[in-house]
Parts: sequence; structure tokens; C-alpha cells
Amino acid sequence: MTKFEDSLLYIDGKFAPAKNGKTYPNVAPATGEIIGYAADGSTEDMDTAIAAARRAFDGRDWSTDRDLRLRVLTQFRDGLHASRERIKALAVAEAGSPLGCIAGPQRDAPISFVDFGLEMLKSYVFERELPVANTMGVPSRRLIWKEAAGVVGAITPWNVPLQINLAKCFPALAAGCTVVLKPAPETPWLATILAEIADKTDMPPGVFNVITSAQPALVGEQLVTDPRVDMISFTGSTATGRLIMAAASEQIKKVFLELGGKSAFVVLDDADFELVIPTSAFFVLYHAGQGCASLTRLLVPRNRYDEAIGMLKTAFEAMPYTDPTAENQIMGPLISERQRQRVLEYVKIGLDEGARLVTGGDMPHGKKGFYVQPTVFADVDNSMRIAQEEIFGPVLVVIPHDGDEDAVRIANDSIFGLSGGVASASTERALAVARRIRTGTFSVNGANYFAADTPFGGYKQSGIGREMGREGFEEYLETKSVAIPA
Ligand code: NAD
Repeated sequence: MTKFEDSLLYIDGKFAPAKNGKTYPNVAPATGEIIGYAADGSTEDMDTAIAAARRAFDGRDWSTDRDLRLRVLTQFRDGLHASRERIKALAVAEAGSPLGCIAGPQRDAPISFVDFGLEMLKSYVFERELPVANTMGVPSRRLIWKEAAGVVGAITPWNVPLQINLAKCFPALAAGCTVVLKPAPETPWLATILAEIADKTDMPPGVFNVITSAQPALVGEQLVTDPRVDMISFTGSTATGRLIMAAASEQIKKVFLELGGKSAFVVLDDADFELVIPTSAFFVLYHAGQGCASLTRLLVPRNRYDEAIGMLKTAFEAMPYTDPTAENQIMGPLISERQRQRVLEYVKIGLDEGARLVTGGDMPHGKKGFYVQPTVFADVDNSMRIAQEEIFGPVLVVIPHDGDEDAVRIANDSIFGLSGGVASASTERALAVARRIRTGTFSVNGANYFAADTPFGGYKQSGIGREMGREGFEEYLETKSVAIPA
């Protein structure tokens, strides 16, 4: 595996090692080998980064000068394109992305999505006027101003780092916010590369800062509790989201949360099984199931349950996952040994709960890297932990349903509400199911909602707010209503 350069922190427009000189190893998921080191930022470094972001915001040039932002973020977009090959190498090396995901959320999609952000910045109406109102006998004009939310702390996970780092930082910067990005410890370089790109633009110092750290919580908690930070934009597990929301409540800090999911794919009895059931392997095994919107509960009609299980066994056993650098593969390793053990623990839980292992459930033999076999559980009841909890691995649970009504009930019987899908010969019938399932995104008959202008996010414990699209830009704005005499 290629050796990469060790990375530094980016604070106030300058690269620097951690003040205490510490670094930590970056481990390649596909081999388990150390591929380089990242600066292990401390609270002292985070303090300096927050101060820089605060100064840059309060200086007002960035937050109020749309032309400056347009010019700099266009340079940033060009820098992203110029770094395509390096991003691909990093996504494969540190995130364990198979090449088949590079054309999607690991590289091409997020890079192309920034054009939407630039268009939004060009065309967005930041100021509008309402007609004269005469409330309580005071005739008044009302001006509605959209203003940048302030200093944003962006805290991101390791599964699709470029996508999530950009989906937060780009609209935040476009809106006029300044940003401190804290990536997951496992994927420091898909954050520091954004600093390298920003550094080559005319971006004023302090507008964008990156603090990598070996400890998952330390400097993240600091971002949440520091009063100089106005808003936290977080993607990660629901458990961490809960902690962040509680900590942020002390200062009533604005939080935007993209959390976990346990999304259901509902197959209705009129669907073309030969076509639809094997696609379930794609929905679950893409990036080894490390997707918050993966469709990890499959709901099939009870009278065709055994037939579906047979098809799934064939499809899951046929999924190649040899090496992330093999062309066209969509399944790779898990991010870490810790994550692999977490997934294997869920396999044990499933067996203890009485589910039937149809295929997989183990590590592949004689293979380096943090792989788990494509895994299918049958005879699953929706109340089991393997049906209720997010596993974040290549594991599908298959649950029988007794018709559309019953399928909707099972799909909604979850603390999560991130995504879902339905397959039916009738679009109308599929849409009727889509309307009743309480999730933030939904796919009918294999259609793909993932696009720059589609808002993405969850109902219930899958989060608060929306990323991407117009909604994902407006998350980073405050609204000020100003009255002047008519
Ligand atoms: P995680 O919640 O453990 O960590 C996410 C980020 O939060 C990391 O940067 C981590 O260092 C940081 N963090 C951890 N504890 C913190 C604390 N107390 N205060 C502040 N920051 C803290 O999640 P993960 O293991 O990195 O990622 C996997 C999880 O993320 C899965 O559960 C998955 O569903 C979820 N996820 C959700 C989405 C989405 O858009 N909804 C996208 C990707 C991943």
C-alpha cells in the first residue's frame, strides 16, 4: 500500500503540528497496515482554531461579502477537481472505499455537488421586503434578512468522509459562516486535503480550520461546549447525537444532526422478485453496509418468504469483495477492527435471539483487512435487536409481512426514520406506501434520490435538519426581521 505524507492541523490559514507534538497512525482498512500519521490535536489546538474562526467571522469580510465568497469558493471547486486522483487514492487507502464507490459518494458525487452550492450562493435572495403592516397602529415596512449563522463546528464520521465533510463545510462557507472541521479519527486525510485546497485559494485566514485528533470525543465536545461556536453540524451515531444535543442545550446552541438509520425495503406481492430481491444485496453491501441510509431491513410477503431467502443467499454469496482496488466492486472492508468486532457481536446477538443465519456471519479466511462476509439473517422478528439497532455492516435482516398495511406498520416500528424503499408493479400502490412511511428520504422502485439539490436527513431519532439542497444551505443562515417606519 502506498505510503502517504503525514498530515498537519490547519489553523488560521497555517499548517502546524499539534502543539504537544503528538501524532497518531492512520490505518488502511483493506490491509490493517499503517499508511502514515496525522497530527493528534489537543484542546489547546482546538482553542486556537475556535479563536481564529471567531475572529474571521467577527471581522465580517467573509460573512458579508458575497463576491469574495463566490470567487474563493470557485477557486476551491477548481482545486477539488485538480485533486481528484489524490482524493481517490485517499478514499481507497484510509476509508477502505472500493473503486465502485468512487463514482458515487466517495468522490465524484460530492465534487460535482459543489456546483449546486455555488449556484445557490449566486442566486439566493438574502434580503426581501414584506408589504407595509399596521399592527397596533404603527405602519411599518418589514425587511427580512438572511444572515450567516456564525462559527460552525462540523463533526463528521468515517464512512463517506469527503461527501459529509463537503456537504457541511461548503454550504456553511457559502452562507458566510466560518468553520472548524473535526473529522473522525479514522479518516483525517479526507479532511486535511480540504485544508490543502482551501490554502491555495484567496480564503482569508481563520475562515476554514481542520483539527484532527486520535480521541473521538475530546475536541468534539470542546466544539459543542465552547460559547464562541454558534452552531454544531454533526453526522454520526444517534448515541453521540444525543450527547451533543444534551451538551449544546446548556447554551441553546443551534444543532443540526444527521444520525443513524435502520431503513426498511418493502417488497409488495406484485413486485418482480427476480429483478427486485437481488438488488437488496446492492442496497446493503454498498461500502460493506457502512451507510446511514442503507436498506438493512428487507420486508417480504410471508407467502413468498422462502423463495426470497433462496434468492438472497445466491445474491449475497455472489457479491465480490476481494480488494478495494479491484475495478467495479462496491463492497470493501469495514473501517476498523473495532467496527468489525461490533458487527460480529451483532451476529452473535442475532443467533442468541433465535434468528437463522442464511449466509455469512464471519470473517473471510486468509484475508488481510477488516472484512466481514456478506450476511443474511432469516426468521427475524422486528422486535429483535438485530432489527432495531443499527449494525453499520454488511448484514441484512429479512422480515415477513402480511400485506401493505402490515409492511407499513413494521417499517415504522423503529426509533429511526432516515430512509426506505418500496418495490411494486404499481407506482400508485408504491407511492401510497411511501406516503405512510415516516422517513426523510425514500426510493420507489429503485429510483435514486441522492443528488445535489435533494435535501437529505431524518425523521425521529435519525436527526434534526437537512443536508444538501436549498434546505441544506438554509441550515447555515439565521433570519433577522427588521421594521422601519412606512
Ligand atoms: P460516532 O457518532 O461515534 O462519531 C461521529 C463523529 O463524532 C466522529 O468525528 C467522532 O470523533 C465524534 N464524536 C464522538 N463522540 C463525540 C462527543 N461526545 N462529542 C463530540 N463529538 C464526538 O459515529 P462513527 O462511528 O464515526 O460513524 C458511524 C455512525 O454514523 C453510524 O451510526 C451511522 O449511522 C452514522 N452516520 C450517519 C449519517 C447520516 O447522514 N445520518 C452519515 C454517516 C454516518
